Parts: sequence; structure tokens; C-alpha cells
Amino acid sequence: MPLIEDLLSLYSVERQVRSLRSRVDTAETYVRLQQREMESLQSRRDELETRKRQHQAHNHNLETEVTGIDERIEKLREELNAASTSRQYNAVLSEVNNLKDKRAAVEEQMLVEMNAIETTEADVAAIDEQIAERSTVLESAQTELSNREAEIADSLATLEQERATKAALIPDGTNQLFDELADDFDGEAMASIEVIDKRRREYSCEVCNVHLPFDVVSRVMGRPDEIMQCQGCLRILYAGEGCREALVK
Ligand SMILES: [Zn+2]
Repeated sequence: MPLIEDLLSLYSVERQVRSLRSRVDTAETYVRLQQREMESLQSRRDELETRKRQHQAHNHNLETEVTGIDERIEKLREELNAASTSRQYNAVLSEVNNLKDKRAAVEEQMLVEMNAIETTEADVAAIDEQIAERSTVLESAQTELSNREAEIADSLATLEQERATKAALIPDGTNQLFDELADDFDGEAMASIEVIDKRRREYSCEVCNVHLPFDVVSRVMGRPDEIMQCQGCLRILYAGEGCREALVK
């Protein structure tokens, strides 16, 4: 078979392989999207947990401070009872009152911290709900992906075998060119020649519409073992039925 026929045959299998794979690709993309969502939820949860621990630690320090103040006040009360002069008594009393003010201030801070802890806990609970919902979605997306993979596995193996057989008939350099074009254009490595005006010998690339010189067209027709690429889109040119009819008549 001429090279161009072998290439067209490879081209046809290539497109079948890609269309089969695209069914899995969509499912795969969806799974990845869900995984990213899940990771971002998890990292927001981690942030909240860190914040909560910071508030708890601060609150704990404040509790310790209150205990210290209480102990100090207790001692001062004993001093107050033992005070022998009113001057001494007043000095101790003033210290007690100062400490009481300080204690009230610390307690206010504790209230702020406890509110913050509660708010953060509520945020964590909300995130946990989202995580639970997302994990249900992720699970079903993964199941869908496995199902699709299983569905196409046999056909894909057969097609890939077929593709390998077809590719083996084509010289290495041409194969490489074909693969590169197929990757660049999602399988559409080839383009047929379109007849614009037979009498005026006007032809164009069916894909990119670039005008093709008659010289190129006649080489594609006359030398089926040579590769001609479209000057516009670089795809491998072949003569479609319309083109062949136009040239024969
Ligand atoms: Zn083109």
C-alpha cells in the first residue's frame, strides 16, 4: 500500500483511540478537580485547628495568671489581718484593689479567647460537613472513573494493538512527525485537500483553509509515497474523494 494509504489507516485508528480515551480523560479531570477541592478544604481545616490551639494556649496562660493573682490576693488578705498600722493596712488594701482590677481585665481577655475558641470550633464543624459532602462526591467520581476505565479497557487494548501494527508499516521519521502532529492537534494529524475551483486549479486545506498551490496538490496525487504538509497548519495532506474525482475528470 502507498505510504499515504498506510498513514490514513493509522490516522483512523489514532482518532478512535483518542475518542475512546477522551471518555476516561473527562472522568479523570473531574476526579482531580474533586481532589483539589478536598485538599483545599483540608488545609482550611488545618488552619482553623492551628488557630484554635493558639486561642486555647493563650486562654490557658490567662487562667494561670488568674490563679497567680488569686494566690497573691489570698496572701495579702492574711497580711491585711496582721497589719498593725493603718498605713500598712491601707498600702496592702490598695495592692489588693489593684490586683482585683487586673484580675477583671484578665477575665475579660479570657472571655474574648473563649468566644474565639467557640467560633473556631463552629467553623471547623462547618468545614467537616463540607468535607463529608465532598468525599461522597469524590468517591462516586472515582467509581465512575474505574467503571469507564474498565469499559474501554478491552477495546482500547485491541485498538492500541491495531495502532501498533499500522504504525509499524510507516518509516520512523514519518511516524514521529505523525505523532507530533497528532499530539499538537488532538489526533487531527492529517488534512484533506478541498477543491475550490477545478477549472482554475484552486485548492485549499480543508482544516485551515490556506490556499494550496497546484504543484503541491499534484504531488500529493502523483507521489503517494511522499509526505506533503500543509503550509498553513503543517498537517499531512491527503487527497479526499472530491479532490481525486476533480483531478481524474
Ligand atoms: Zn492546513
